[in-house]
Amino acid sequence: MTVVHAPDVLEGVPLELLVGGAWRPSASGQTFDVHDPATGEVLASIADAMPGDGMAALDAAAAAQSGWAAVPARERSEILRRAFDLVVVNRERIARLIASEMGKPVAEAYGEVDYGAEFLRWFAEEAVRHSGDYRRSPDGASRILVSRRPIGPCLLITPWNFPLAMATRKIAAALAAGCTVVLKPAPETPLTSLLFARLLQEAGVPDGVVNVVTTSDAPALCAPLIADGRIRKVSFTGSTPVGRLLVAQCGPQLVRPSMELGGNAPFIVLADADLDAAVEGAMIAKMRNMGEACTAANRFLVEASVADEFARLLGERMGRLRLGHGLDAGTEVGPLIDEAAQDRLGELVADAVAHGASVRVGGAAPERAGWFFAPTVLENVPAEARVSREEIFGPVAPITTFTEVDEAIRIANDTEFGLVAYLYTGDPARALRLAERLETGMVALNRGLVSNAAAPFGGIKHSGMGREGGREGIEDYLDITYVAVDA
Ligand code: NAD
Repeated sequence: MTVVHAPDVLEGVPLELLVGGAWRPSASGQTFDVHDPATGEVLASIADAMPGDGMAALDAAAAAQSGWAAVPARERSEILRRAFDLVVVNRERIARLIASEMGKPVAEAYGEVDYGAEFLRWFAEEAVRHSGDYRRSPDGASRILVSRRPIGPCLLITPWNFPLAMATRKIAAALAAGCTVVLKPAPETPLTSLLFARLLQEAGVPDGVVNVVTTSDAPALCAPLIADGRIRKVSFTGSTPVGRLLVAQCGPQLVRPSMELGGNAPFIVLADADLDAAVEGAMIAKMRNMGEACTAANRFLVEASVADEFARLLGERMGRLRLGHGLDAGTEVGPLIDEAAQDRLGELVADAVAHGASVRVGGAAPERAGWFFAPTVLENVPAEARVSREEIFGPVAPITTFTEVDEAIRIANDTEFGLVAYLYTGDPARALRLAERLETGMVALNRGLVSNAAAPFGGIKHSGMGREGGREGIEDYLDITYVAVDA
């Protein structure tokens, strides 16, 4: 059964595996279904790769590695630039596909396409910038030549919440560095990656440089690839438990891991903040992607003297949001990714209420088809509630109050995560001092968004290791060689 809301979104989307430049079915001939989360209907059935298909993809990536590394950086850069142009030309088509398989409103999907495309342009520019250096040894007896080379074939594993941007963020950096890749997209949202891979072919990426394997059994496919020894790097974006497992799997072959994992972002509002701006930023930090973002504001920590007013304003905004299918005009909030996510949010709200929180707006799944959850604001949420400790990944905003700034910093840091923190205050010097005390990879000062292709995105503590984007993003894909010369 293929459907439905807009069948044309599937036009030109390959439904097979990309191995060594050829589109082919899984060796077993098996397929799995991709759903439209707003209706629960099957959107498409795609090739279900088995471990043997994964190995064939690795064979192709390994065979292409030395040829791709030898392609002049300028040429690699121009291919990436053409890929950027193609994504821009296909902006509407990609955005509608993202909205269909992932559920986000199409207006937000446009934002993802723009953000995702930017990595292609950024790394097209970085491809020709990375180089080595020349140093004199301190004793004057020798020279030190430092150069960089591609690390080798990479396994890239992406989540479902940003189907294009998580793929471009990794692929663009890897290709710029001269690495070949096997991409394993999330089974919930593989269609965007498949379409993007076709655009990469059109842009001139040689056969075998980018291979894509879609599978319903990621552990069975990925573990043998990491154990093989030819994969030299795993770049993963996803949950912290899976990240831990992959780092352990990287151990025996000393494969270099980059891990972009979960978050539990504090959103701190001090009494001297511009409250309207804070609410505006809160809407972005909480509701981008329906709250299904690792960077989503997870805990609102608001100074007691302004907490009632902040909750009132945020509740009004959240309560007015329109739910609907991502492709329908006027939709502001799409569905969650699946039924389990919907059930889990219901449990988190019930647990918060059992711990003494009160529901200002929302609080439940609405009576309608699809995996929706009403935008929700909770007040007086204690630190012991699950919603304060776990990544929410949905449109639920828990508010906790504090009276001393030191208390806010202590609560903010009281988590194993450390991806991003948001801070609103009218005092710039105070903002910088406090930002230094937050245990996190990124801080947003008086704004609700940190993502930027030109910035080093990433976390500390259990939010991960390595950085994507910025000047740092390409480094993860490069090895260093130093040559000693008597001179
Ligand atoms: P997930 O960890 O369940 O899955 C992520 C990917 O890993 C998917 O492609 C999945 O198929 C694959 N996978 C699962 N088990 C695997 C295994 N044993 N071996 C190899 N691959 C495996 O995460 P998700 O639910 O898709 O995504 C949500 C999570 O991703 C959240 O925790 C979110 O915070 C995180 N995330 C982080 C960032 C970041 O940059 N830090 C960005 C987006 C999402």
